[in-house]
Amino acid sequence: MSKRDYYEVLGVERGADQKDIKKAYRRLAQKFHPDRNPDDGSAAEKFREVSEAYEVLSDSEKRAAYDQFGHAGVDEQAGGGGGGFGGAGAGGFSDIFGDVFGDIFGGGGGRRHPNAPARGSDLRYNLELDLEDAVAGTSVDIRVPRHVECERCDGNGAEPGSSKDTCPTCNGIGQVRMQQGFFAVQQTCPTCHGSGQHIKVPCHKCNGEGRVRETRTLSVKIPAGVDTGDRIRLNGEGEAGINGGPPGDLYVQAAIKPHPIFQRDGRHLQCEVPINFVDAALGGELEVPTLDGRVKLKIPPETQTGKVFRLKGKGIKPVRGGPPGDLLCKVVIETPVKLSEEQKELLRKFQDSLGGSSGHHHSPKKSNFFDGVKKFFEDMKP
Ligand SMILES: [Zn+2]
Ligand SMILES: [Zn+2]
Repeated sequence: MSKRDYYEVLGVERGADQKDIKKAYRRLAQKFHPDRNPDDGSAAEKFREVSEAYEVLSDSEKRAAYDQFGHAGVDEQAGGGGGGFGGAGAGGFSDIFGDVFGDIFGGGGGRRHPNAPARGSDLRYNLELDLEDAVAGTSVDIRVPRHVECERCDGNGAEPGSSKDTCPTCNGIGQVRMQQGFFAVQQTCPTCHGSGQHIKVPCHKCNGEGRVRETRTLSVKIPAGVDTGDRIRLNGEGEAGINGGPPGDLYVQAAIKPHPIFQRDGRHLQCEVPINFVDAALGGELEVPTLDGRVKLKIPPETQTGKVFRLKGKGIKPVRGGPPGDLLCKVVIETPVKLSEEQKELLRKFQDSLGGSSGHHHSPKKSNFFDGVKKFFEDMKP
């Protein structure tokens, strides 16, 4: 297969300067980058072609040889490797990535120069809060185990005073190429795990990792009104970056513990208030709990069990603003227990006063129910 002219590939004049060559390459490499064209084989081929052209034309020595002898002048120099990247030597290819891609794709891309700075991972901390603290806001000290840059070696992994070598297996690329039939497959170098470097004397503190595990105590301000699932971000408090990259962030994720009295429903609170049947029948004043103390709740006579009373504004002020929610008090009528003989006698007399056990007039729900039951059985008769 005869190769296209490198200047033609990049679409530049023969006299183009380095700036124009680099600009042309960046534009074409972005266009044909395999990560952006995952299913397009011809894009990958073009990307290789473009990379190869740039590898030669960006190097003054190689460019001079190419100008004089054409492809024959550089193929030998480039090592004539049989790999999938044509004539471009593996080392040259890696340098292109570091030079040009570092600032195009950032650290997040799948392919990254092994020594390029990478942002540290984000961390998540699950924080359980009492309802009262979540509603009022608080400050909590949390202990966060995480990786921080090793101070002894400044994060480079080599014992101070010792030096680093290029990894002999991958020649510093961090990846090795394997030929599988027609395809050349890139794999992370098994010797240096992708760093491209060989540490002669590993740092004694971090064993060559460049980072050490440390538990730090952080004070976290919890804003009033947070709810389960809300996250508070602490900038730069995540894992240390790699090769001098910025650290990640720490996310504190709130989870509100169950409360013995209140259930939360967004900005509203719910609670059950037991009352005795005399209060329910005659009406009266109840004391109900709120998050700021007790308040009096007037209940009307003939209050039925399950009735919900809404106390406006006694709920929670939402963390994202807006009016506070309500407190919903559901009254539950409690049957009296441990009655004395005298009390039981009073109740029997009371029962008689209702007109026997079928005092329908005083129990609208009950009478409705039994009317319904009667009709139900009558409807079943053939
Ligand atoms: Zn170290
Ligand atoms: Zn290696």
